[in-house]
Amino acid sequence: MPRAFADLVLRGGPVHTMAGGDPATALAVRNSRVSRVGTDAHVRDLTGPRTTVVDLNGRAVIPGINDAHLHATWLGLRWPHTLLGDSAGSQRSLQRSLRTDAERRAAILRAGDVLARLGITSYTEPGLGPGEDGGSTGAFGSSVVRQYRELAAEGLLRSRVTALWLYGEVDGPSAYADLARGLSTIDDNRMDPRHLSFTGVKIFADGIPPMRSAYLDDGYSDGGRGELLVDGKDDAERERHLTDMILAVHRAGLQVGVHATGDRAIEVVLDAVAMARAERDVDLRHYVIHGDLVTAAQLRRMARLGVGLAVQAGIAVRTAKAVEAVLAAGRAENAWPFQDILRAGVPLCLTSDAPVLAPDWRREIAAADEWLGAAADVRARVECLLRCYTVNPARQDGADSWKGTLAAGMAADLCVLSADPLALTAAELPEVEIDLTVLGGKIVYERLR
Ligand SMILES: [Zn+2]
Repeated sequence: MPRAFADLVLRGGPVHTMAGGDPATALAVRNSRVSRVGTDAHVRDLTGPRTTVVDLNGRAVIPGINDAHLHATWLGLRWPHTLLGDSAGSQRSLQRSLRTDAERRAAILRAGDVLARLGITSYTEPGLGPGEDGGSTGAFGSSVVRQYRELAAEGLLRSRVTALWLYGEVDGPSAYADLARGLSTIDDNRMDPRHLSFTGVKIFADGIPPMRSAYLDDGYSDGGRGELLVDGKDDAERERHLTDMILAVHRAGLQVGVHATGDRAIEVVLDAVAMARAERDVDLRHYVIHGDLVTAAQLRRMARLGVGLAVQAGIAVRTAKAVEAVLAAGRAENAWPFQDILRAGVPLCLTSDAPVLAPDWRREIAAADEWLGAAADVRARVECLLRCYTVNPARQDGADSWKGTLAAGMAADLCVLSADPLALTAAELPEVEIDLTVLGGKIVYERLR
């Protein structure tokens, strides 16, 4: 019987599988999956004449990064410019929209290149579809869906892509009728879901606190409380329509990702998910996006309902002053309660929302850690925040059975870092280099070549 040699072996450095188990220093890959994890001695007999061997020399292996909320096509259009904290200089020459299919295709490929360099092997495009067919950026409409499908069919995507359908406008209005029509027309495109998977629907419930457009229980400093973006003649009707939308998605067996920042908007979402699960108790990995003003009681409810949270610590840090300026006294102190989120056991995904922020997970983890303040032991904190970029987003993708950790049998999506992140503080993480990115056992980026 021919010996089953590995295609790729990495050895001689800490291998953080994020799956528990004994500390490991080596990992073998065969047929796009992790075939063995252990000590260097454990993989020696798998190293054959055609095996690619990477000597880590102390460098660390972690699972590939999964950014659970990243507008890649829009990022490809704007990069290196971002919306917040832009350090790339003048934006005067920046192209504002994607006009042709060729431009959209190029933007997706460009983003793939940027992400591979950052060790990112999976991301979620949160909202593509007919709702933005007339959109000004050209980065969210149905034509983008077609480009993704073509690139997936050609094997040219450099990340695994999860996508949500969009039947309303980005940061704008939506209507139940459009969503219902959309759900009835989803075509069953036979794509390998490991490369491109449409898992559900994105809904914009409300706006954002700094614009006074988050929907609150009780008010902004000027007495207003915002309102839902969903159509309706008054608050009660809008709440009912949002509830109906969430119920319709759940009944279709799909996931819903809801942009909701105000505490009242989040409450409506949780009430709807509770109703949906009472009707049909399946965990479709529904989640709240941003969740700026989520309360401690809502977090406990989310944990019970299996509702996840996709949050951007970098946005929290950058907009804290603007949020404080518009909210009633004392209210801003409780915004983005990372400590409570983790304590409640809500599946938390840290994300960049790129191109709002740069898709640099090292900086996002440092920002989240800063927001957490001094607590627990440094190593446990960094490990916990790394899970928010690996294990938890795989769960959000409904793909935790095959990706997100480096246990044997899992997809060989990983990156090699120039230093061991678990031997550093989160603040030191942005200095660490990404040396190698591997997607499904294939090297898609190599820094030193
Ligand atoms: Zn977004």
